[in-house]
Amino acid sequence: MVRAVDVHKRYGRDEVLKGISLEVAAGEVLCLIGPSGSGKSTFLRCINHLEKIDGGRLWVDGELMGYRARGDCLYELGEREVCRQRSAIGMVFQRFNLFPHMTVLENIIEAPLRVKGESRAAAIQHAQALLQRVGLLAKAGAYPAHLSGGQQQRVAIARALAMRPRLMLFDEPTSALDPELVDEVLAVMRGLAEDGMTMVVVTHEMAFARDVGDTIAFMDGGVIVESGPPGQVLLRPRHERTRAFLSRVI
Ligand code: ADP
Ligand code: MG
Repeated sequence: MVRAVDVHKRYGRDEVLKGISLEVAAGEVLCLIGPSGSGKSTFLRCINHLEKIDGGRLWVDGELMGYRARGDCLYELGEREVCRQRSAIGMVFQRFNLFPHMTVLENIIEAPLRVKGESRAAAIQHAQALLQRVGLLAKAGAYPAHLSGGQQQRVAIARALAMRPRLMLFDEPTSALDPELVDEVLAVMRGLAEDGMTMVVVTHEMAFARDVGDTIAFMDGGVIVESGPPGQVLLRPRHERTRAFLSRVI
């Protein structure tokens, strides 16, 4: 579902991603861990082409992101094509980014109506099913300001799912939440994983990474220092840098 080959990204002279290669199979959950500034968010943003990469290749669901290959040449895709590619990828950020002037239901149906041209009735029906799934059907008519952070983040997940993505990206989805609200969001994410959604999750929640991750990748300084099943990376890390990081967060 995701294939990154030698992905490089620079901001000015600062090389933030120094050759990231990884694969995520359909239905798998990859948890990205690592210290602040190691390039985790940048890599997520590269996956859905919110950032243009400076080297390497990135495929999502078999499609080269942002480019069309013809022979040995790469041609940049236009904005419309990039939007089409991006619409297959759901993204959930640390901050919930809900539209404050819209109700929960309106937040969820906005993109399906505007981007996908779904009928209002179909979009509402799907939104209600998604709200049921994240346990917030009763809040369909509420405004974001009247919801807790955990509820807002569950709406943000439902909103991303409304586009029927084949891949979900999460960037520290629980880092901005009060501790008592973290579990309700992780529970929704667990459910998604159990239903077979392919997910890339940047997280500091090591218990979640251990239980839900098929693969853990530890990033530091723009490279993947090591990756493997949770039992290996979290319990028997091979690299000193991984050990040092884990001893600080666990
Ligand atoms: P992480 O998510 O692992 O904390 P980031 O991907 O956010 O790391 O950042 C990696 C590095 O790239 C940091 O040094 C950060 O300052 C830098 N960076 C991120 N975004 C930008 C940007 N838009 N312009 C310049 N530098 C950036
Ligand atoms: Mg980040």
